[in-house]
Amino acid sequence: MTSPKTDANQPDLFAQELVATLKPAPAPTPVARPVPPAPLFKAPPVPTRTLPIPPVGPNDPPLRKIQLGSHTVHYVLRRSARRSHGFMVCDDGLFVTSPNRAPLDDIERAIRAKQRWILTKLFERGERRALRAERPPVEWVDGAQLPYLGADITLRLEPAARSHCVHDAATRTLHLGVTPGLETWQIRERVKLWFQDEAKRIFRERLDLYAPHVGVTYHSFAISSAGTRWGSCTVAGNIRLNWKLVHYPLALLDYVVVHELAHLREMNHSPAFWAVVGEVFPDYDGAKAALKKRSVEMPVLFPDE
Ligand SMILES: [Zn+2]
Repeated sequence: MTSPKTDANQPDLFAQELVATLKPAPAPTPVARPVPPAPLFKAPPVPTRTLPIPPVGPNDPPLRKIQLGSHTVHYVLRRSARRSHGFMVCDDGLFVTSPNRAPLDDIERAIRAKQRWILTKLFERGERRALRAERPPVEWVDGAQLPYLGADITLRLEPAARSHCVHDAATRTLHLGVTPGLETWQIRERVKLWFQDEAKRIFRERLDLYAPHVGVTYHSFAISSAGTRWGSCTVAGNIRLNWKLVHYPLALLDYVVVHELAHLREMNHSPAFWAVVGEVFPDYDGAKAALKKRSVEMPVLFPDE
């Protein structure tokens, strides 16, 4: 990623929503349902797809609303000094940034011109949100399964005088020393720190491994959290990688590393950029798809992130 995107026209090839959370829910057991009798009259269609509606704070201006075909779309309108309309769809819904003086007519026309893209994105987000809501969060108990580099490790809670957090790679166990009175949220925070430390260690290793292959040197590296991006890179060579990648298989993490390094040669998502990525990571399409798919399946570990 190069910069925060508000432009619908920008290619959104790598803008993965970071679905932070989520564990592959057990496949629902098929239940034989009785066939309902044919209805005597036609019931109104049940809305199966819901569009996300941006949250509104007490001091925020009210949401705007526009009818696009049969869909009512709520959006946040922001003004800026920019000269064109910008659109962003995230988990929270649609955000429109328009020139300071643009009349509402103009804004609505711009939205309609983009409605296909907007509705597609909104439905996608809405569906992923629904999927996420169906998955129960991880319970922070002894024996909990935590995703680490694409497979599960087992959390062992052990009474201890001093807190510790040690990963035994051979048994794929994370041993956490639980001091008297340690609360669940503290256990969760401790594990989060461990994941973040692991992310730093592994990212550093992989950046150093791949930088010569991409033919670049980077200036600095930091982990990012929250947000909706897997990674970012500045012209100055400052790379940021989302620590939650540590839940994913190493190959996917490598893809993101190569992607960000490649931006040091091509600060865009042009064919030339993808050619650079492809030299080092040929199956980038597969990795992109896998990241997207797996992000929807990740368990809810740190819901507040
Ligand atoms: Zn990128």
